[in-house]
Amino acid sequence: MKILSFGSCNLDYVYKLHHIVAKGETEQTSSMSIFAGGKGLNQSIAMARAGAEVYHAGCIGADGDMLLDTLKDSGVDLRYIKRVEEKNGHAIIQVSEKGENSIFLYPGSNAMITEEFADSVIAEFDRGDIIVLQNEINNLDYIIKAAYNRGMTIVLNPSPIDEKLSAMDFNMISYIVLNEIEGEHISGQNIPEKIISQLKLKYPNLKIVLTLGDKGCMYYDGEDIYCHAAFDVKAVDTTAAGDTFMGYFVASLIAGESSAKIIEKASAASAIAVSRNGAAPSIPYSVEVDSTISTMKLKAGRTASREEEIKEKINRYTEENIQDVNLAELAGKLGYSPAYMGELVKKVFGKSFGKYLMEKRCDKAAELLKNTHLSVGEVIRAVGYNNESFFRKAFTQIYGTTPYNYRKTMKNRG
Ligand code: ADP
Repeated sequence: MKILSFGSCNLDYVYKLHHIVAKGETEQTSSMSIFAGGKGLNQSIAMARAGAEVYHAGCIGADGDMLLDTLKDSGVDLRYIKRVEEKNGHAIIQVSEKGENSIFLYPGSNAMITEEFADSVIAEFDRGDIIVLQNEINNLDYIIKAAYNRGMTIVLNPSPIDEKLSAMDFNMISYIVLNEIEGEHISGQNIPEKIISQLKLKYPNLKIVLTLGDKGCMYYDGEDIYCHAAFDVKAVDTTAAGDTFMGYFVASLIAGESSAKIIEKASAASAIAVSRNGAAPSIPYSVEVDSTISTMKLKAGRTASREEEIKEKINRYTEENIQDVNLAELAGKLGYSPAYMGELVKKVFGKSFGKYLMEKRCDKAAELLKNTHLSVGEVIRAVGYNNESFFRKAFTQIYGTTPYNYRKTMKNRG
């Protein structure tokens, strides 16, 4: 399965000045920098850094060498990029001392995509390959139809939102990844749950990812709705948050991860991007995401309910299988790898799986000691221990008394 990212590449000219230039005014800037940008480029880079094999297609102007270098450095395949005579698409960005910005965009090369070019690229891909699209190139509706007819799986980030999108047939799209503003525009609803239910109603086959900034995200995967809170980072620059999310979402999807894991990884990657300056340079590599995710804390909000849901599932499984709890089996039931399951238990319960299980077993043993006539040995075996002295020690540590004395105290009380 290959990923074709058909999208924009922009040169971002960033000018720092005292204040945003007003009508009729001229002002000298204090600095000027050029950055690689554009949603297509950012998302291609995010997917490549997440470990996916990515082919970027689009048009680059005569002045766009820096963009090619940036894509190449992250491991993106450039064979479907066409050089055009036109100036590269670029943004002129004013940033004031107060951090306000004002942007105008010249589409340039990003508006030079012909139907023939789109056809020639799509012909190189097969049924089941993924095409990733945003709304910063011309002929988007043509590309969607061509990719659909080719049997490709279409992932659309309908950004920036404009009237052209209203004319598009989202029934051809498999996955839509959008923020609250885009969601409201397309669905006419302004509450996250309602945005999703309205889109589901209108486009029954659409899988929906709704990103909610520092409130996290929601993902309807065709069966269930998953929520994830944002990770708690100090936000420095939210540029490319959505692009990083989108890139990691697609890369994890193609890697066959579970829905819960997909949005967790995308949330972690985009939180890391938010904690740094810049667009493309802020997008992390997969090794960094994997190594920091277990230490990252969640923000309160939408994820609290997701966390509660996970806790409840782990508790239920453990209680139902107290005698022979198995981490790999639990991981399988929740759709995670066994290694990750251990990390998740630590994250939601704040303790290792071993400690969590021992406490659960002691609680169950206490209940049996109190409410049944099973002997202490039988209770110990009923909660899954063969080594009695090990259990007695653990129980005594947690309950501050031996199992035998615990029963005696409870009986006296009862
Ligand atoms: P866009 O950049 O397209 O507007 P969002 O603002 O919804 O997208 O952000 C995309 C994702 O990035 C969110 O779902 C969240 O996981 C992450 N994110 C955005 N802002 C923050 C933040 N301040 N702190 C942590 N994560 C954030």
